[in-house]
Amino acid sequence: MRHIAIVGSGPAGYYTAEACQKQFGADVRIDILDRMPVPFGLIRSGVAPDHQSIKAVARRYEAIALTDNVRFVGKLSIGGDVSISELISLYDAVVLATGAPSDRRLGIPGDDLPGVLGSAAFVGWYNGHPDHADLDPAVDGQDVVIVGNGNVALDCARILAKSPAEFEGSDIVRHALERLSGSRPRSIMILGRRGPHQIAMTPKELGELGHLSNAYPVVDPADLPPEASDLALEPGQRKSVNLLREFATMPARDGLPVRFDFFAQPVRVEGDGHARRLIVERTMLGADGMAVGSGETYELPAGLIISCIGYRTPPIPDVPYDERAGRFANVEGRIMPGLYCVGWARRGPTGTIGTNKPDGFMIAEEIARDQPEAAEKQGRAGLDELIAEREIDIVTFRDWQQIDLAEIERARAGAPREKFVRIEEMVSATKK
Ligand code: NAP
Repeated sequence: MRHIAIVGSGPAGYYTAEACQKQFGADVRIDILDRMPVPFGLIRSGVAPDHQSIKAVARRYEAIALTDNVRFVGKLSIGGDVSISELISLYDAVVLATGAPSDRRLGIPGDDLPGVLGSAAFVGWYNGHPDHADLDPAVDGQDVVIVGNGNVALDCARILAKSPAEFEGSDIVRHALERLSGSRPRSIMILGRRGPHQIAMTPKELGELGHLSNAYPVVDPADLPPEASDLALEPGQRKSVNLLREFATMPARDGLPVRFDFFAQPVRVEGDGHARRLIVERTMLGADGMAVGSGETYELPAGLIISCIGYRTPPIPDVPYDERAGRFANVEGRIMPGLYCVGWARRGPTGTIGTNKPDGFMIAEEIARDQPEAAEKQGRAGLDELIAEREIDIVTFRDWQQIDLAEIERARAGAPREKFVRIEEMVSATKK
Protein backbone atom coordinates (compact mmCIF):
# COMPACT_ATOMS: atom_id res chain seq x y z
CA MET A 1 0.00 0.00 0.00
CA ARG A 2 1.22 3.46 -0.91
CA HIS A 3 0.50 6.21 1.61
CA ILE A 4 0.20 9.81 0.45
CA ALA A 5 -0.39 12.89 2.60
CA ILE A 6 -1.68 16.02 0.90
CA VAL A 7 -1.41 19.19 2.99
CA GLY A 8 -4.21 21.57 2.06
CA SER A 9 -7.76 20.78 0.97
CA GLY A 10 -8.28 23.41 -1.72
CA PRO A 11 -8.51 22.76 -5.47
CA ALA A 12 -4.81 21.80 -5.80
CA GLY A 13 -5.17 19.30 -2.95
CA TYR A 14 -8.28 17.59 -4.28
CA TYR A 15 -7.07 17.47 -7.88
CA THR A 16 -3.87 15.84 -6.61
CA ALA A 17 -5.91 13.29 -4.65
CA GLU A 18 -7.96 12.53 -7.76
CA ALA A 19 -4.81 12.16 -9.86
CA CYS A 20 -3.18 9.84 -7.26
CA GLN A 21 -6.32 7.67 -7.23
CA LYS A 22 -6.09 7.35 -11.02
CA GLN A 23 -2.33 6.78 -10.96
CA PHE A 24 -2.19 4.15 -8.19
CA GLY A 25 -5.66 2.58 -8.32
CA ALA A 26 -6.71 0.58 -5.27
CA ASP A 27 -3.16 0.49 -3.86
CA VAL A 28 -3.16 3.95 -2.36
CA ARG A 29 -4.38 5.59 0.85
CA ILE A 30 -4.61 9.37 0.73
CA ASP A 31 -4.93 11.68 3.73
CA ILE A 32 -5.87 15.29 3.02
CA LEU A 33 -4.83 17.44 5.96
CA ASP A 34 -5.94 21.01 6.62
CA ARG A 35 -5.34 23.48 9.43
CA MET A 36 -8.97 24.62 9.07
CA PRO A 37 -11.90 22.52 10.30
CA VAL A 38 -13.57 23.08 6.91
CA PRO A 39 -12.35 21.87 3.51
CA PHE A 40 -12.02 23.37 0.01
CA GLY A 41 -9.66 26.29 0.75
CA LEU A 42 -9.95 28.96 -1.92
CA ILE A 43 -13.37 27.74 -3.05
CA ARG A 44 -14.78 28.66 0.34
CA SER A 45 -12.68 31.65 1.26
CA GLY A 46 -11.25 33.06 -1.97
CA VAL A 47 -13.86 32.76 -4.73
CA ALA A 48 -16.20 35.74 -4.57
CA PRO A 49 -19.47 35.10 -2.69
CA ASP A 50 -21.50 36.30 -5.70
CA HIS A 51 -19.80 33.75 -7.98
CA GLN A 52 -21.73 30.72 -6.75
CA SER A 53 -21.47 28.81 -10.02
CA ILE A 54 -17.66 28.68 -9.64
CA LYS A 55 -18.09 27.28 -6.12
CA ALA A 56 -20.14 24.37 -7.50
CA VAL A 57 -16.85 22.58 -8.30
CA ALA A 58 -16.72 21.72 -4.57
CA ARG A 59 -19.22 18.93 -5.34
CA ARG A 60 -16.55 17.23 -7.41
CA TYR A 61 -14.10 17.48 -4.50
CA GLU A 62 -16.77 16.11 -2.17
CA ALA A 63 -17.16 13.06 -4.40
CA ILE A 64 -13.39 12.46 -4.11
CA ALA A 65 -13.51 13.01 -0.36
CA LEU A 66 -16.21 10.36 -0.01
CA THR A 67 -14.26 7.60 -1.76
CA ASP A 68 -12.93 4.80 0.46
CA ASN A 69 -9.24 5.46 0.04
CA VAL A 70 -9.36 9.21 0.76
CA ARG A 71 -9.95 10.85 4.12
CA PHE A 72 -10.01 14.47 5.34
CA VAL A 73 -8.30 15.41 8.58
CA GLY A 74 -9.22 18.96 9.52
CA LYS A 75 -7.91 21.26 12.26
CA LEU A 76 -4.44 19.75 12.07
CA SER A 77 -1.56 22.14 11.54
CA ILE A 78 1.47 20.80 9.68
CA GLY A 79 4.53 22.57 10.97
CA GLY A 80 2.62 23.11 14.23
CA ASP A 81 0.78 20.02 15.58
CA VAL A 82 2.84 17.67 13.41
CA SER A 83 6.21 18.47 11.83
CA ILE A 84 7.03 18.02 8.18
CA SER A 85 9.76 15.48 9.00
CA GLU A 86 7.28 13.42 11.01
CA LEU A 87 4.94 13.44 8.04
CA ILE A 88 7.73 12.44 5.63
CA SER A 89 8.67 9.55 7.91
CA LEU A 90 5.06 8.27 7.91
CA TYR A 91 4.07 8.65 4.25
CA ASP A 92 5.61 7.55 0.93
CA ALA A 93 4.93 11.03 -0.42
CA VAL A 94 3.91 14.33 1.13
CA VAL A 95 2.41 16.91 -1.22
CA LEU A 96 2.11 20.53 -0.09
CA ALA A 97 -1.04 22.08 -1.55
CA THR A 98 -1.19 24.96 0.88
CA GLY A 99 -2.01 27.67 -1.65
CA ALA A 100 -0.94 31.28 -1.21
CA PRO A 101 -3.12 32.77 1.52
CA SER A 102 -0.79 35.61 2.62
CA ASP A 103 -0.63 39.07 1.09
CA ARG A 104 2.34 40.43 -0.81
CA ARG A 105 3.04 43.81 0.69
CA LEU A 106 3.16 46.96 -1.40
CA GLY A 107 6.64 47.62 -0.01
CA ILE A 108 6.30 51.41 0.02
CA PRO A 109 6.55 53.87 2.94
CA GLY A 110 3.28 54.02 4.88
CA ASP A 111 2.01 50.59 3.72
CA ASP A 112 1.64 49.62 7.38
CA LEU A 113 -0.76 52.47 8.22
CA PRO A 114 -4.28 51.56 9.32
CA GLY A 115 -6.52 51.78 6.27
CA VAL A 116 -4.05 49.88 4.06
CA LEU A 117 -5.21 46.30 3.52
CA GLY A 118 -4.09 43.39 1.42
CA SER A 119 -6.64 41.54 -0.70
CA ALA A 120 -6.14 38.29 1.27
CA ALA A 121 -7.36 40.09 4.38
CA PHE A 122 -10.20 41.97 2.64
CA VAL A 123 -11.41 38.94 0.64
CA GLY A 124 -11.01 36.74 3.72
CA TRP A 125 -13.15 39.20 5.68
CA TYR A 126 -16.12 39.22 3.29
CA ASN A 127 -15.80 35.46 2.81
CA GLY A 128 -15.75 34.75 6.56
CA HIS A 129 -12.26 33.27 6.92
CA PRO A 130 -11.58 32.96 10.68
CA ASP A 131 -8.15 34.64 10.27
CA HIS A 132 -9.80 37.84 9.00
CA ALA A 133 -13.25 37.84 10.62
CA ASP A 134 -12.35 40.81 12.85
CA LEU A 135 -10.97 43.06 10.10
CA ASP A 136 -13.96 45.41 10.17
CA PRO A 137 -12.78 47.80 7.41
CA ALA A 138 -14.06 51.39 7.47
CA VAL A 139 -15.75 51.90 4.10
CA ASP A 140 -18.34 54.61 4.56
CA GLY A 141 -17.55 57.86 2.79
CA GLN A 142 -14.04 56.69 1.96
CA ASP A 143 -12.10 57.26 -1.19
CA VAL A 144 -11.00 53.72 -1.93
CA VAL A 145 -7.93 52.97 -4.02
CA ILE A 146 -7.55 49.41 -5.28
CA VAL A 147 -4.01 48.65 -6.45
CA GLY A 148 -3.62 46.04 -9.19
CA ASN A 149 -5.22 45.20 -12.52
CA GLY A 150 -6.10 41.55 -11.99
CA ASN A 151 -9.33 39.68 -11.27
CA VAL A 152 -8.91 40.06 -7.52
CA ALA A 153 -8.95 43.86 -7.94
CA LEU A 154 -12.24 43.43 -9.83
CA ASP A 155 -13.67 41.19 -7.10
CA CYS A 156 -12.82 43.78 -4.43
CA ALA A 157 -14.20 46.70 -6.46
CA ARG A 158 -17.43 44.86 -7.30
CA ILE A 159 -18.07 43.74 -3.72
CA LEU A 160 -17.58 47.32 -2.49
CA ALA A 161 -19.77 48.76 -5.26
CA LYS A 162 -22.75 46.38 -5.08
CA SER A 163 -26.05 47.37 -3.52
CA PRO A 164 -27.41 45.07 -0.77
CA ALA A 165 -30.00 43.62 -3.19
CA GLU A 166 -27.22 42.54 -5.54
CA PHE A 167 -25.91 40.13 -2.89
CA GLU A 168 -29.07 38.04 -3.11
CA GLY A 169 -28.19 34.39 -3.68
CA SER A 170 -24.59 34.95 -2.54
CA ASP A 171 -22.97 33.54 0.59
CA ILE A 172 -21.34 36.79 1.68
CA VAL A 173 -21.11 36.53 5.46
CA ARG A 174 -23.48 38.51 7.67
CA HIS A 175 -20.83 40.80 9.20
CA ALA A 176 -19.70 41.92 5.73
CA LEU A 177 -23.21 42.30 4.35
CA GLU A 178 -24.21 44.43 7.33
CA ARG A 179 -21.09 46.60 7.09
CA LEU A 180 -21.41 47.08 3.32
CA SER A 181 -25.17 47.67 3.41
CA GLY A 182 -24.81 50.46 5.94
CA SER A 183 -21.93 52.19 4.18
CA ARG A 184 -20.93 53.46 0.80
CA PRO A 185 -17.48 54.48 -0.45
CA ARG A 186 -17.28 58.00 -1.87
CA SER A 187 -15.25 56.80 -4.83
CA ILE A 188 -13.37 53.77 -6.04
CA MET A 189 -10.18 54.00 -8.10
CA ILE A 190 -8.54 50.96 -9.66
CA LEU A 191 -4.84 51.63 -10.19
CA GLY A 192 -2.77 49.82 -12.82
CA ARG A 193 0.99 50.29 -12.99
CA ARG A 194 0.85 49.41 -16.71
CA GLY A 195 -1.70 50.13 -19.45
CA PRO A 196 -5.00 48.80 -20.80
CA HIS A 197 -3.18 46.26 -22.99
CA GLN A 198 -1.42 44.79 -19.95
CA ILE A 199 -4.44 44.21 -17.68
CA ALA A 200 -4.78 40.74 -16.16
CA MET A 201 -8.59 41.03 -15.98
CA THR A 202 -10.65 38.44 -17.82
CA PRO A 203 -13.65 39.57 -19.93
CA LYS A 204 -16.41 37.90 -17.91
CA GLU A 205 -15.20 39.42 -14.66
CA LEU A 206 -14.51 42.85 -16.19
CA GLY A 207 -17.91 42.86 -17.93
CA GLU A 208 -19.68 42.50 -14.58
CA LEU A 209 -18.49 45.96 -13.61
CA GLY A 210 -20.61 47.42 -16.41
CA HIS A 211 -23.82 45.90 -15.01
CA LEU A 212 -24.00 47.13 -11.44
CA SER A 213 -27.19 48.83 -10.30
CA ASN A 214 -25.68 51.74 -8.33
CA ALA A 215 -22.16 51.99 -9.71
CA TYR A 216 -20.55 52.40 -13.09
CA PRO A 217 -17.04 52.08 -14.54
CA VAL A 218 -15.19 55.15 -15.79
CA VAL A 219 -12.33 54.91 -18.28
CA ASP A 220 -10.67 58.00 -19.73
CA PRO A 221 -10.67 57.58 -23.56
CA ALA A 222 -7.28 59.32 -23.62
CA ASP A 223 -5.79 56.36 -21.72
CA LEU A 224 -6.66 53.89 -24.47
CA PRO A 225 -4.09 53.02 -27.13
CA PRO A 226 -5.06 53.28 -30.84
CA GLU A 227 -7.72 50.68 -31.65
CA ALA A 228 -5.65 49.14 -34.45
CA SER A 229 -3.05 48.05 -31.91
CA ASP A 230 -5.64 45.74 -30.27
CA LEU A 231 -5.15 43.36 -33.22
CA ALA A 232 -1.86 42.20 -31.73
CA LEU A 233 -3.62 41.00 -28.57
CA GLU A 234 -4.74 37.47 -27.69
CA PRO A 235 -8.52 37.07 -28.24
CA GLY A 236 -9.36 37.07 -24.49
CA GLN A 237 -7.24 40.12 -23.86
CA ARG A 238 -8.80 41.87 -26.85
CA LYS A 239 -12.27 41.24 -25.39
CA SER A 240 -11.20 42.79 -22.10
CA VAL A 241 -9.76 45.84 -23.87
CA ASN A 242 -12.99 46.13 -25.90
CA LEU A 243 -14.87 46.32 -22.62
CA LEU A 244 -12.60 49.14 -21.46
CA ARG A 245 -13.39 50.89 -24.76
CA GLU A 246 -17.12 50.44 -24.06
CA PHE A 247 -16.68 51.82 -20.55
CA ALA A 248 -14.91 54.84 -22.02
CA THR A 249 -18.00 55.71 -24.10
CA MET A 250 -20.55 55.24 -21.31
CA PRO A 251 -22.31 58.46 -20.40
CA ALA A 252 -21.90 59.66 -16.80
CA ARG A 253 -24.81 58.63 -14.62
CA ASP A 254 -25.93 58.71 -11.00
CA GLY A 255 -24.17 56.37 -8.67
CA LEU A 256 -20.73 55.41 -7.50
CA PRO A 257 -17.97 55.87 -10.09
CA VAL A 258 -15.41 53.07 -10.31
CA ARG A 259 -12.52 54.78 -12.09
CA PHE A 260 -9.56 53.22 -13.82
CA ASP A 261 -6.20 54.97 -13.64
CA PHE A 262 -3.52 53.38 -15.81
CA PHE A 263 0.26 53.85 -15.89
CA ALA A 264 0.19 54.76 -12.20
CA GLN A 265 2.27 53.12 -9.50
CA PRO A 266 1.98 53.70 -5.76
CA VAL A 267 4.97 55.44 -4.22
CA ARG A 268 3.97 56.35 -0.65
CA VAL A 269 0.97 56.28 1.68
CA GLU A 270 0.51 59.44 3.74
CA GLY A 271 -1.73 60.19 6.70
CA ASP A 272 -1.96 61.18 10.33
CA GLY A 273 -1.91 57.72 11.91
CA HIS A 274 -4.29 56.48 9.20
CA ALA A 275 -4.09 56.37 5.41
CA ARG A 276 -5.39 59.62 3.91
CA ARG A 277 -3.52 59.97 0.61
CA LEU A 278 -1.71 57.77 -1.85
CA ILE A 279 1.18 59.34 -3.70
CA VAL A 280 1.34 57.86 -7.17
CA GLU A 281 3.97 58.06 -9.90
CA ARG A 282 3.15 58.13 -13.60
CA THR A 283 4.80 55.26 -15.43
CA MET A 284 5.50 54.20 -18.97
CA LEU A 285 6.33 50.88 -20.54
CA GLY A 286 10.02 50.06 -20.59
CA ALA A 287 11.74 48.13 -23.41
CA ASP A 288 11.10 44.89 -21.49
CA GLY A 289 7.38 45.70 -21.25
CA MET A 290 7.61 46.44 -17.53
CA ALA A 291 6.49 49.66 -15.81
CA VAL A 292 9.13 52.38 -15.50
CA GLY A 293 8.59 55.42 -13.28
CA SER A 294 8.52 58.81 -15.05
CA GLY A 295 9.39 60.83 -11.94
CA GLU A 296 6.06 62.72 -12.19
CA THR A 297 3.97 62.19 -9.06
CA TYR A 298 0.50 63.18 -7.97
CA GLU A 299 -1.78 62.60 -5.04
CA LEU A 300 -4.96 60.56 -4.72
CA PRO A 301 -7.27 60.87 -1.73
CA ALA A 302 -7.30 57.42 -0.12
CA GLY A 303 -8.86 56.47 3.22
CA LEU A 304 -8.93 52.80 2.28
CA ILE A 305 -6.24 51.22 0.12
CA ILE A 306 -6.61 47.58 -0.92
CA SER A 307 -3.56 46.10 -2.59
CA CYS A 308 -4.48 43.31 -4.98
CA ILE A 309 -0.98 42.58 -6.21
CA GLY A 310 -0.63 38.88 -5.59
CA TYR A 311 -0.09 36.46 -2.75
CA ARG A 312 2.58 34.44 -0.94
CA THR A 313 2.67 30.90 0.38
CA PRO A 314 3.46 30.88 4.10
CA PRO A 315 6.70 28.99 4.83
CA ILE A 316 6.62 25.73 6.83
CA PRO A 317 9.52 25.01 9.21
CA ASP A 318 12.20 22.80 7.58
CA VAL A 319 10.78 23.14 4.05
CA PRO A 320 13.13 24.92 1.58
CA TYR A 321 11.58 28.25 0.65
CA ASP A 322 12.08 30.71 -2.21
CA GLU A 323 11.85 34.03 -0.36
CA ARG A 324 11.83 36.17 -3.50
CA ALA A 325 9.04 34.24 -5.22
CA GLY A 326 7.11 33.69 -1.98
CA ARG A 327 6.63 29.94 -2.47
CA PHE A 328 8.37 26.65 -1.76
CA ALA A 329 11.70 26.15 -3.53
CA ASN A 330 11.02 23.38 -6.03
CA VAL A 331 11.92 22.00 -9.41
CA GLU A 332 8.73 21.07 -11.26
CA GLY A 333 7.02 20.36 -7.96
CA ARG A 334 9.86 18.37 -6.35
CA ILE A 335 11.15 19.92 -3.14
CA MET A 336 13.22 17.00 -1.82
CA PRO A 337 12.87 13.22 -1.91
CA GLY A 338 9.36 12.34 -0.75
CA LEU A 339 8.24 15.99 -0.57
CA TYR A 340 6.39 17.76 -3.39
CA CYS A 341 4.27 20.87 -3.91
CA VAL A 342 1.37 21.69 -6.24
CA GLY A 343 -0.86 24.59 -7.22
CA TRP A 344 -0.07 28.09 -5.99
CA ALA A 345 2.41 26.66 -3.44
CA ARG A 346 4.42 25.39 -6.44
CA ARG A 347 4.01 27.99 -9.18
CA GLY A 348 2.78 31.10 -7.37
CA PRO A 349 -0.68 32.71 -7.51
CA THR A 350 -1.53 32.39 -11.19
CA GLY A 351 -4.14 30.63 -13.25
CA THR A 352 -7.70 29.56 -12.66
CA ILE A 353 -9.06 26.77 -10.46
CA GLY A 354 -8.89 24.38 -13.41
CA THR A 355 -5.15 25.08 -13.89
CA ASN A 356 -4.56 23.00 -10.77
CA LYS A 357 -5.87 19.86 -12.42
CA PRO A 358 -2.91 19.21 -14.74
CA ASP A 359 -0.68 20.23 -11.85
CA GLY A 360 -2.09 17.42 -9.72
CA PHE A 361 -1.64 14.87 -12.51
CA MET A 362 1.94 15.99 -13.07
CA ILE A 363 2.78 15.39 -9.40
CA ALA A 364 1.08 11.97 -9.33
CA GLU A 365 3.23 10.93 -12.31
CA GLU A 366 6.36 12.30 -10.65
CA ILE A 367 5.64 10.35 -7.48
CA ALA A 368 5.18 7.18 -9.55
CA ARG A 369 8.47 7.84 -11.40
CA ASP A 370 10.43 8.70 -8.24
CA GLN A 371 9.10 5.77 -6.23
CA PRO A 372 8.10 2.88 -8.51
CA GLU A 373 7.47 0.71 -5.43
CA ALA A 374 5.74 1.73 -2.21
CA ALA A 375 7.95 1.71 0.87
CA GLU A 376 6.83 0.06 4.11
CA LYS A 377 5.49 3.23 5.70
CA GLN A 378 2.91 3.44 8.46
CA GLY A 379 0.72 6.03 6.76
CA ARG A 380 -2.50 7.01 8.44
CA ALA A 381 -2.12 4.52 11.34
CA GLY A 382 1.08 6.33 12.34
CA LEU A 383 -0.55 9.75 12.01
CA ASP A 384 -3.49 8.60 14.13
CA GLU A 385 -1.06 7.50 16.83
CA LEU A 386 0.56 10.96 16.88
CA ILE A 387 -2.85 12.65 16.96
CA ALA A 388 -3.94 10.47 19.89
CA GLU A 389 -0.64 10.91 21.80
CA ARG A 390 -0.85 14.70 21.43
CA GLU A 391 -4.60 14.78 22.17
CA ILE A 392 -5.31 16.82 19.03
CA ASP A 393 -9.00 17.39 18.45
CA ILE A 394 -9.26 16.82 14.69
CA VAL A 395 -12.29 17.28 12.43
CA THR A 396 -13.34 14.50 10.02
CA PHE A 397 -15.21 14.81 6.72
CA ARG A 398 -18.33 13.56 8.51
CA ASP A 399 -17.89 16.38 11.04
CA TRP A 400 -17.57 18.83 8.12
CA GLN A 401 -20.84 17.49 6.70
CA GLN A 402 -22.47 18.47 10.00
CA ILE A 403 -20.93 21.95 9.85
CA ASP A 404 -22.14 22.19 6.24
CA LEU A 405 -25.71 21.26 7.21
CA ALA A 406 -25.72 23.68 10.14
CA GLU A 407 -24.52 26.50 7.86
CA ILE A 408 -27.21 25.70 5.29
CA GLU A 409 -29.89 25.57 7.99
CA ARG A 410 -29.00 28.98 9.39
CA ALA A 411 -28.79 30.71 5.96
CA ARG A 412 -30.72 33.97 5.54
CA ALA A 413 -33.57 33.82 2.98
CA GLY A 414 -32.24 33.28 -0.55
CA ALA A 415 -28.64 32.56 0.54
CA PRO A 416 -27.05 29.13 0.11
CA ARG A 417 -25.49 29.20 3.61
CA GLU A 418 -24.44 31.41 6.49
CA LYS A 419 -20.83 30.48 7.20
CA PHE A 420 -19.47 30.11 10.69
CA VAL A 421 -16.60 32.56 10.96
CA ARG A 422 -15.01 31.28 14.19
CA ILE A 423 -13.20 28.00 14.55
CA GLU A 424 -14.97 27.33 17.89
CA GLU A 425 -18.38 27.78 16.21
CA MET A 426 -17.39 25.31 13.51
CA VAL A 427 -16.19 22.79 16.06
CA SER A 428 -19.28 23.10 18.21
CA ALA A 429 -21.48 22.48 15.15
CA THR A 430 -19.82 19.04 14.89
CA LYS A 431 -20.92 18.16 18.41
CA LYS A 432 -24.65 18.70 17.86
P1 NAP B 1 -2.80 38.93 -10.98
O1 NAP B 1 -3.76 38.49 -12.00
O2 NAP B 1 -1.40 38.45 -11.06
O3 NAP B 1 -2.80 40.54 -10.96
C1 NAP B 1 -1.94 41.25 -10.12
C2 NAP B 1 -1.92 42.70 -10.53
O4 NAP B 1 -1.13 43.40 -9.58
C3 NAP B 1 -1.28 42.95 -11.89
O5 NAP B 1 -2.01 43.93 -12.57
C4 NAP B 1 0.12 43.46 -11.52
O6 NAP B 1 0.66 44.34 -12.47
C5 NAP B 1 -0.19 44.22 -10.26
N1 NAP B 1 0.96 44.44 -9.41
C6 NAP B 1 1.83 43.51 -8.94
N2 NAP B 1 2.74 44.09 -8.15
C7 NAP B 1 2.45 45.41 -8.13
C8 NAP B 1 3.02 46.53 -7.48
N3 NAP B 1 4.09 46.40 -6.69
N4 NAP B 1 2.45 47.73 -7.66
C9 NAP B 1 1.37 47.87 -8.45
N5 NAP B 1 0.77 46.85 -9.09
C10 NAP B 1 1.31 45.63 -8.92
O7 NAP B 1 -3.26 38.54 -9.50
P2 NAP B 1 -4.68 38.49 -8.78
O8 NAP B 1 -5.61 39.51 -9.28
O9 NAP B 1 -4.33 38.45 -7.33
O10 NAP B 1 -5.25 37.05 -9.19
C11 NAP B 1 -4.54 35.86 -8.86
C12 NAP B 1 -5.02 34.72 -9.76
O11 NAP B 1 -6.36 34.35 -9.39
C13 NAP B 1 -5.07 35.12 -11.22
O12 NAP B 1 -4.69 34.03 -12.00
C14 NAP B 1 -6.53 35.45 -11.42
O13 NAP B 1 -6.98 35.35 -12.75
C15 NAP B 1 -7.20 34.42 -10.53
N6 NAP B 1 -8.55 34.87 -10.16
C16 NAP B 1 -9.57 34.50 -10.97
C17 NAP B 1 -10.84 34.94 -10.68
C18 NAP B 1 -11.97 34.53 -11.59
O14 NAP B 1 -11.73 33.81 -12.54
N7 NAP B 1 -13.19 34.99 -11.36
C19 NAP B 1 -11.10 35.75 -9.59
C20 NAP B 1 -10.02 36.12 -8.78
C21 NAP B 1 -8.74 35.66 -9.08
P3 NAP B 1 1.74 43.82 -13.56
O15 NAP B 1 0.95 43.10 -14.58
O16 NAP B 1 2.36 45.06 -14.05
O17 NAP B 1 2.71 42.93 -12.82
